[in-house]
Amino acid sequence: MSCLVPRDSPGEPSASVASRSKPRRLESGSAAARADLCLRLLVEASSDCAVFTLHADGRVADWNAGGHSLFGGEPSEMVHKPLAALFAPDEQADGLPGRMLDEAMRGGVSTNVAWCNRVDGTRFAARIECRAITGPAGTILGYGCVVRDLTEKRELDRLRAEARKDEGPPHDGAAGTASTALLSMISHEIRTPLTGIKGFTEALALQDLTPLQRRYVELAGASCAALMSVVDDLLDFSALEAGDIDLKEEAFAVAGLAHGALSMVLGTAAPKSLALSLSVAPNVPPTIVGDRGRIRQILLNLLANAVKFTLRGSIRLAITAERGAGGADMLKFAVVDTGIGIPEDRLSRLFNRFSQADASIRDRFGGSGLGLAICKQLVERMGGEIGVETALGHGSTFWFTIRMRRAPVAAAPGAPRLQGGAPPRGVRVLLVDDGRMNQEIARIFLEHAGYDVKVADDGAAALMALEQDTYDIVLMDMQMPGMDGAEATRRIRARGGRFAEMPIVALSARVFSEDVAECLDAGMNGHLAKPFDRAEMVATIERFTAKAA
Ligand code: ADP
Repeated sequence: MSCLVPRDSPGEPSASVASRSKPRRLESGSAAARADLCLRLLVEASSDCAVFTLHADGRVADWNAGGHSLFGGEPSEMVHKPLAALFAPDEQADGLPGRMLDEAMRGGVSTNVAWCNRVDGTRFAARIECRAITGPAGTILGYGCVVRDLTEKRELDRLRAEARKDEGPPHDGAAGTASTALLSMISHEIRTPLTGIKGFTEALALQDLTPLQRRYVELAGASCAALMSVVDDLLDFSALEAGDIDLKEEAFAVAGLAHGALSMVLGTAAPKSLALSLSVAPNVPPTIVGDRGRIRQILLNLLANAVKFTLRGSIRLAITAERGAGGADMLKFAVVDTGIGIPEDRLSRLFNRFSQADASIRDRFGGSGLGLAICKQLVERMGGEIGVETALGHGSTFWFTIRMRRAPVAAAPGAPRLQGGAPPRGVRVLLVDDGRMNQEIARIFLEHAGYDVKVADDGAAALMALEQDTYDIVLMDMQMPGMDGAEATRRIRARGGRFAEMPIVALSARVFSEDVAECLDAGMNGHLAKPFDRAEMVATIERFTAKAA
């Protein structure tokens, strides 16, 4: 190191590492100079950790050979960079480097475990200790920073946890995984009773009610929807944390997707008379390949937030194509609102989990505080970025990019069918489900939409019903005692003839891509998530039976 205490001015080039590797002799001189040299030799000998000195303004003055081996790159690359450059982008966005310097300045030392960034952009977990170096009058001369790579320790913790897995409750490194699993289990357990609450609330809304009864049913429905979205967020978040989400590759129309997402927030925007609009730049290809469902989920989250936090004015969704870093083709979605805006000091934590801008926002508007964290994870999985520009009291623009892959012309899907027409007369639906509550809810929805419904309790009963009568479509629960949905479907398909083509749609509370893939592998044509959504159920039947007709 050129000097332990950073003395050179920030603008001056620092000593190169080449000069560090020269052998040194402990020369006679002032006691301070000798002490300084001793310390330098000790620091350089600490090859298993990175030691940095920083100028008083927080920029790197010098670093030891351990720093070079930990962070990689050219030795001179780090010098003069701000401390933040050592940290991963999310830690930078969170403002951690600045907080550590502040803490060190106030209390002399600050320690943290955080993600660091190598010069090549890869990240590693590290323990970072930052100390203020003070002069005689207590003035800050600079900072000393020690960074230790925790990768090996984490790996060790993981192996230990794995070894202990069968012996009892999880420890240390397994705690995160355990809480993720617990979260996921709890969400599943909540979804089941929610199916009944949501289904019967909707069923009740179909009855003749007095205005007061209708108001109560609507309020119950709104609470139920809020709880559903929190549970869905928890499920999604735990799946993303566990790396359990696979992205689909399908061709879809960009404008169709945007229209669909906007139309889903129409209902909440209308009472506030918010104007909704969509603009698609001419350079956006009509169809792209990607995970339509996940892009819709991100869009819906941003649009729903925009509606939630805008009391008057408008919400605009703008889609453009642009060149990203490295020349990649990117698609950019921007949701522009004229809402309440976000205070500057809340921005850095916005995309972290449980990050409502403040407690009063949570009390006023509800929400899990997970939505943006989920969006960020999904966007990053799609090779893009997410961000916000906002002016307090004037509105916000939440934007995200995704890596764009144009669909080959032949793969472009046809125009989406419009929903909402009267169902074709005399459509016969075979509903296969072992749950009495599900049977009852689905039957109410289907009969109300004008379908002719027959119920079978399990796979075997479904096979028998199909022998005795003809049906236009089968709605098949996946998990049933005896013969489950997948097995029943395989047997139906094996019969050949009209059974080879008959639409079979899965009903399942398992909604991840591998669950849907399992249904399709068994020979089913589609998948409907539980708790049932009445409109989605009717639209799906309409789509398949119209196609068959
Ligand atoms: P939640 O599900 O609780 O809304 P999000 O992660 O989606 O959580 O949003 C986190 C916080 O970000 C919100 O509680 C709100 O404070 C702020 N926020 C998000 N979108 C907007 C917006 N369009 N206008 C103002 N504030 C917003």
